[in-house]
Amino acid sequence: MLGQMQNWPLLVSRFLSHASAAHGHREIVTKLVEGGTHRCTWHDIERRSKQLAQALNRLGCKPGDRIATLAWNGHRHLEVWYGTSGSERVCHTLNPRLFVDQLIYIINHAEDSVLLFDTTFAPLVEKLSPHLPTVKHYIALCPRAHVPDIKVPGGVLCYEDMIAAENGDYTWPSFDENTASSLCYTSGTTGNPKGVLYSHRSTVLHTYGACMADTMGMTASSVILPVVPMFHANAWAIPYGAAAVGCKLVFNGPHFDAATLQQLIIDEGVTFTAAVPTVWLAMLQHLEATGTGLGNLQTVTIGGSAAPRIMIDTFQTKYGIKVGHAWGMTETSPLGTIGTLTPEILAMNKEVQLDAQCKQGRRIFGVDLKITGPDGKALPHDGIAFGNLKVRGPWVVARYFKGEGGDILDAEGWFDSGDVATMDPHGFLHITDRAKDVIKSGGEWISSIDIENAALAHPAVQEAAVIGVVHPKWDERPLLIIILKAGMSATKQNILDVVAPQVAKWWLPDDVAFVDELPHGATGKLNKMELRKQFANHVLSVS
Ligand code: ADP
Repeated sequence: MLGQMQNWPLLVSRFLSHASAAHGHREIVTKLVEGGTHRCTWHDIERRSKQLAQALNRLGCKPGDRIATLAWNGHRHLEVWYGTSGSERVCHTLNPRLFVDQLIYIINHAEDSVLLFDTTFAPLVEKLSPHLPTVKHYIALCPRAHVPDIKVPGGVLCYEDMIAAENGDYTWPSFDENTASSLCYTSGTTGNPKGVLYSHRSTVLHTYGACMADTMGMTASSVILPVVPMFHANAWAIPYGAAAVGCKLVFNGPHFDAATLQQLIIDEGVTFTAAVPTVWLAMLQHLEATGTGLGNLQTVTIGGSAAPRIMIDTFQTKYGIKVGHAWGMTETSPLGTIGTLTPEILAMNKEVQLDAQCKQGRRIFGVDLKITGPDGKALPHDGIAFGNLKVRGPWVVARYFKGEGGDILDAEGWFDSGDVATMDPHGFLHITDRAKDVIKSGGEWISSIDIENAALAHPAVQEAAVIGVVHPKWDERPLLIIILKAGMSATKQNILDVVAPQVAKWWLPDDVAFVDELPHGATGKLNKMELRKQFANHVLSVS
C-alpha cells in the first residue's frame, strides 16, 4: 500500500525559495574581490539567482549544461550555485588551486559550456581558454568597471550587466529530483581527477543531515562563515543548509589570512565556522601572538584532514569554542561522520572526551559505515582492528561522471573510501590513514596520522608528516618530517621524547627530518606521494 502524501521533488531551488519567503531579510555579507564589503539579503539572492537563470536562457544554455565556476566564496558565487542548479543546469565548481593541466582536463571532461570567474583568476582563465573547446562564454563575476582586459574566445561578459538586463520574473522549474545539480571533481592524487555528480535529491537529503543538531546544528540564529571553499565538496553543505534554516551567511571572498578572518568573525558576530585544519593552525597562532579572541564564535567544524588533539583542546579549553571533528569526502557529499559526544562519553572525564573528539566521529543518519579486513569480512568495533572503510547511502557516489573507473560499488552497494580506519565500541570512527599512505612494518600497520598528531604536541612543531621509508628488516619504518615554528628550535630526540608516550613503542619513528616546506594538494592535504618521492633515498639515522 502506498502512502498518500504529497510528493514534492526534492530540488535545490526549494532552499532558496524558502529562505527568501521565510527569512528574506537575513543578511549575506561578502568581502569582495574588488575590495570593500557587500551586504544583501536572501531575498536579493533569490531575485538575482533568477535573473542569472534568465541570462543563461538568453545565452542559449540548455538543461543539463555544465556551468563552471572559478570563484571564491561570495554572494555572486552563491547566486551562480542556485541560478544554475535551480534552472536545471549543473553547477560545476572548479578548484583554482589545481594545476593548469588538471583544470584543462576537468573542464574538457565535464564539457563545460560557460565559465564564470572571479577577477582574481583572470590570468588563469586567459591561460586556460585556448585549450577549452567546449566553453562558449566567459563571464567575469564583477561590475563593468572591473571586467579584466584578457583575451578569451568571444570576449569577456560582465556578470553585473547580465543580471541588470533581466527582470527576475522567473519561476523555478520543477523536474525529477534525481536530476544532476552540481559536479565536483576529486583532486586526483592517483590518476586523473574523477567527477562526482550530485543530484538534487542527494543534495537535499545531505543538507537535512548536515543541519541536524548533532551534525552542524545550523539554526536561524546562527551566523555562519564557511571558510571552507564552495569549490571544496560544496562547502560541506553550508550554503544549502544556511538557506534551509534562513541564517546569516558571511563570506571571506579571497581572504584567508587569520587577521581578516578574525576581524570578520568578530565584526559580523559569527557563531559557527568550518574549515580544514591548516586554516585553524594559522588562526590559533595568530590568537596566541596577539593575545586576542574570536568574539561570539561558538562552534567550529574541522575536517578534510585529521584535527590535531592540541588544536581541539586549545579551541575548547582556552577559547571556549566547541569543536566538531568531521570526516567525509567529495564522494560522500561530503559529510559522513562527526564527533558530537554521546551521553555515555559526556559522563566520562575530559581526557576521555578529548580522546573521542580526536577521532573522526560517529556516522550521521543517512550514512552506513563498515570496516573490513583483507578477506572483505566486517571487523569488530573494538577500536583496535584496522580495516578498509566502506560507506553507502543516498548521498554517497554510485558511479563517477561518464563512468570513469568502472563499477565502484561492490555487490551490496558499498563504496570503498580508500581510507583505513578503526571503529570503537561507542561507534567512533578513527581514520588511521589513506590506504595508500599506510606504513607496513613487519607485516603490521602503523598509523601515520596518529604519529603526526603526537608530534604536534611539541610546542616548536608547526606541521608534521609521517611516511614509510624502506627498511631492510621491517620492509618499512616511519620517518617523521617536521616544519618548526618560526624562531623555535628542537632536536630529533626532543621531538621523539614527546611522541614516545603517545604511541605504541614499535610505532616510534626511526628518524626525524626537518624541512622548511611540506607539499600540499589542492584541498590543503599533505601530498604524501610527493613526500615519498622526495625521501625515497633517505637513510634512517636515529636507529
Ligand atoms: P580530495 O581532496 O582528495 O579531492 P576529499 O576532499 O574528498 O578529496 O578528501 C577526502 C579524504 O580526506 C578522505 O578520504 C580522508 O582520507 C581525508 N579526510 C577527510 N576528513 C578527514 C579527517 N577528519 N581526518 C582524517 N582524514 C580526513
